[in-house]
Amino acid sequence: PDPTLRPEKLSEDNDRALRPQVLEDFIGQAEARANLRVFIESAKRRGEAMDHTLFHGPPGLGKTTLAQIMSRELGVNFRMTSGPVLAKAGDLAAILTNLEERDVLFIDEIHRLNPAVEEVLYPAMEDFELDLVIGEGPAARTVRIELQPFTLVGATTRLGLLTTPLRDRFGIPTRLQFYEIHELTEIVARNAVKLGAPADPEGAMEIARRARGTPRIAGRLLRRVVDFAVVEGDGRVTRELADRALTRLGVDQLGLDSADRRYLRLIAEAYQGGPVGIETMSAALSESRDALEEVIEPYLLQQGLIQRTPRGRMLTQSSWLHLGLEPPRPAGT
Ligand code: ADP
Repeated sequence: PDPTLRPEKLSEDNDRALRPQVLEDFIGQAEARANLRVFIESAKRRGEAMDHTLFHGPPGLGKTTLAQIMSRELGVNFRMTSGPVLAKAGDLAAILTNLEERDVLFIDEIHRLNPAVEEVLYPAMEDFELDLVIGEGPAARTVRIELQPFTLVGATTRLGLLTTPLRDRFGIPTRLQFYEIHELTEIVARNAVKLGAPADPEGAMEIARRARGTPRIAGRLLRRVVDFAVVEGDGRVTRELADRALTRLGVDQLGLDSADRRYLRLIAEAYQGGPVGIETMSAALSESRDALEEVIEPYLLQQGLIQRTPRGRMLTQSSWLHLGLEPPRPAGT
């Protein structure tokens, strides 16, 4: 699949310029935003570390951005790491002991923490204490280290993979939703201005409609459309230009790209609409099961293009329609 169209983070994801800096500028997620505003304000007035917060939802919806905004609004440092990076308990201990009072520690992909590292996190979250084992064998002993009170912000695309004890230690679990088209339209319009290529309202909406409910994708599509606007247009993002550019990039009317369509076509053409098990899909598409479940399926499910059943994935009526294919007739008719 074309990496520019996928929502996962890339190292060249040069989107710092487009990141909203304060809660006021963060568009969408109204409920999460309203709650966070209260919790941030309360923590500030009480002069305490804000309660640990867990953001969950598909990639690219603003989990990292919200964590950064929290630290800025709280007026504290922002430290960032991720589950797979923390290989040993000592790695986490080093970060924790360096935190200053009330700092925000952001752990991305927190469902991928190694169990030994997770053990260290429990007393740290609960009592701001660290139990370190020094030495080995009969001479081993535990020392307890006091930590500064801090706020852990965890992010995960897979809530179901979090262990219960970890999940229970977050006082503020927050689910992020796919964005509405009008919200994405506003995000695109603002970003177009920041990129120096103003968008017509219809141009912004065309990109928004095809961004799979995801601000990160909206940002990527906008950059590509701006390229076309600069080279083939007069620098303005119009609806016609956006449509032409996105079609050329293989992004269809629903915002599905070639990887999404490959997924749907496999179920349609090789399995008569399903059900097909996820492992079979993964093997046939040469995509990891995680990539299918975290990146491709959430939007297809939200759009009602597939259904998840106990026996596997199935296409819906609207999926056949979208693919322009005839659904098979039920047996015996
Ligand atoms: P996640 O951590 O959930 O994968 P990020 O916080 O990294 O997502 O956001 C991805 C991109 O989308 C960033 O460039 C960010 O600026 C942009 N973005 C996310 N949410 C919003 C929003 N509500 N308004 C404007 N831009 C947003």
